[in-house]
Parts: sequence; C-alpha cells; structure tokens
Amino acid sequence: MDYYIPPLARLIEQFEKLPGIGHKTARRLAFYVLRSPEGEAEKFADAILSAKQLIKYCRVCQNITDTEICSICESDRRDRSIICVMENPKDVVSLEKTGEYHGLYHVLHGAISPMDGVGPEDIKIPELLSRLKDNTVSEVIMATNPNIEGEATAMYISRLIKPLGIRVTRIAHGVPVGGDLEYADEVTLSRAIEGRREM
Ligand SMILES: [Zn+2]
Repeated sequence: MDYYIPPLARLIEQFEKLPGIGHKTARRLAFYVLRSPEGEAEKFADAILSAKQLIKYCRVCQNITDTEICSICESDRRDRSIICVMENPKDVVSLEKTGEYHGLYHVLHGAISPMDGVGPEDIKIPELLSRLKDNTVSEVIMATNPNIEGEATAMYISRLIKPLGIRVTRIAHGVPVGGDLEYADEVTLSRAIEGRREM
C-alpha cells in the first residue's frame, strides 16, 4: 500500500472491503473515481450515505423501505392470509419479480447459525410471532435458503407456529440444495413456491 499516497490508499482500501472486489479491481475503481468529475464523485458518495440514512426496516414485515410501512404491507391488493418468510430483502425482490406471489412477506435478516453465534433472538423471529396474534394469517411459507442454516431456521420457526393452528409450508427444492435464493431464476423460484409442502 505504500506505493499510494494516503488519500488514494484510503479509497482503495474502502473499495476492497466490498464483497467480490479484490485488490486489482479496487485499484481500478479508485483510479476511475480520480478521473471522474467531482460532481460524479459527490453523487456517488451521496447515494451511499442517503441509502444508509433513508432506508429503514418496515415496521410490519421488516423489509427495507423508506417509509414507516412498506408498499407491500400497505397494499390492499395483497392476500393478508399468507406470509412468506425470507432471509434477506434481496430474496423478496427475486420472488416479487416472478409476479406469481400475492401474499405478504416477513424478512428475518439472516438465519439461525450457532456456529456464527446467531440465535433466534438475533433475527426477526419475535417480530414474526407478534404478527400472527390477530388470527388473520392462515399460512406461513418458509422460504429460507435451502442450506443448513436455512433449514434449521425453517424447522425452528415451524415448531413455534404450528401449535398456533397456522399451516406451515416449506418451499420445494426447485432451488439447488446448498444454494442461495438470490441465484435461483424466477421460473425456479415460482415453481418452488407452487410446489411447497406441509412442514
Ligand atoms: Zn412491510
């Protein structure tokens, strides 16, 4: 890093922290920023900051939103009797893109993973349980990722919900085992929902 003057070294260092960016790419991006007009750099910095400052979690489903309650939870065209539980906001985007699902969502922001010290209280499980109290929900679809953590999380939640008399289903393994929902194409994902089974 000593080859770079400090402000440039700092910029490269920040880019290197991004997922999937190695040193070479970080260096290329940093030099790109140096070459671009100051106004562009300002827009970039501002987009990062305002995304962090303006985006919060929906009070109901915990998905990301820039309003108190997200547009899906607000919508009167969604089926309020079904909640699809997903690990990440980007999973919701994947399923929304299919256009086949019309229920509500709940975003956990992670999965139970004792190895990484993530317990049930560290993800949005209590928030999910409190949504089920008013008896409007008749089915909860567990659409956590088809890997060990996702399966364990689905099992854990289903054990809490079933005694409430709510139907709990698990998406079919149209998604490759050990895979990530993010990479499932839209057709696979909508089949996975269609082929869901009782847990
Ligand atoms: Zn919401």
